[in-house]
Amino acid sequence: MSKLSRRTLLAATAASLATRALPASAAAPFAFKHGAFEVTVVSDGHLVLPTSFLAPSAPAAEREALLNAAGQTGEQYNSPTNVTVVRSERDLILIDMGSGDRFMPTAGKLWDNLKGAGIDKAKITKVVFTHGHPDHLWGTVDELDDLVTPDASFFVARAEWDFWTGENATRGLPAERAGFVTGARRNYAAIKDKVKLVNAEDDIVAGLRIIDTPGHTQGHVSIELAGSDGLIVGGDVLTHPLISFQYPQWKPIADHVPDQAIATRRKLLDRLATDRSKLIGFHLPYPGIGVVERKDAAYRFVPAA
Ligand SMILES: [Zn+2]
Repeated sequence: MSKLSRRTLLAATAASLATRALPASAAAPFAFKHGAFEVTVVSDGHLVLPTSFLAPSAPAAEREALLNAAGQTGEQYNSPTNVTVVRSERDLILIDMGSGDRFMPTAGKLWDNLKGAGIDKAKITKVVFTHGHPDHLWGTVDELDDLVTPDASFFVARAEWDFWTGENATRGLPAERAGFVTGARRNYAAIKDKVKLVNAEDDIVAGLRIIDTPGHTQGHVSIELAGSDGLIVGGDVLTHPLISFQYPQWKPIADHVPDQAIATRRKLLDRLATDRSKLIGFHLPYPGIGVVERKDAAYRFVPAA
């Protein structure tokens, strides 16, 4: 979510709270078997974002029509945040940790919703991060900066760790988003003794593998689960149920390296449509699970639930 001014965000959030009722925060957990794994998608709540973030440079009429079709007619929209939990024979694995309590009042519901799904956070053994943005990383620590899952080990893509901890993090982002860097470093500092830096093709456990999907952020990765036609937990490669599929070339404000993000989107879409693998999208409508089909010269998302 680059160029995201904290002030804009806070104003947008406040306005939203004032003008409409919040949707129910606790969606019923969605769970299914996939190969040797049991997969549960748990909501962390949602983000409230300016609609203009979706694709500011796209042709206005086409963008308008698409947003209307997605039911997004106002200045702001709610972006769901779906956290994936994978149970293997020996491990309970969390993919991303949600926003925690310092990003937006509408998010940070993961721990309550996990409990509602009958999952004990104390039993989480491994945490894998797709990238270092607030809505994926800031739930790592509690209000005292202590780890929420102190017994877990953590897995971060090497390129992502290097980006947020290196000099280019502040150079590559607009000044008003320095808070994102501070937040990433705060959460990374809490895991530094327990983190394992990983690369593309590394297995976290047998059948659960890191795949390289850079562009949204410099070191953004997705997670592939073996079994039947495959399942890819795609993080923020495909963030909107219509735009990301019909117009993968449009540039959401959130992408750090826009042209690389477009190339990654096209590559993942092609793979998903060819392999018929399932996709779980972090920001797609809960539970964010579906398959991708080719449509005209592009693609469409077909929700499975
Ligand atoms: Zn995100």
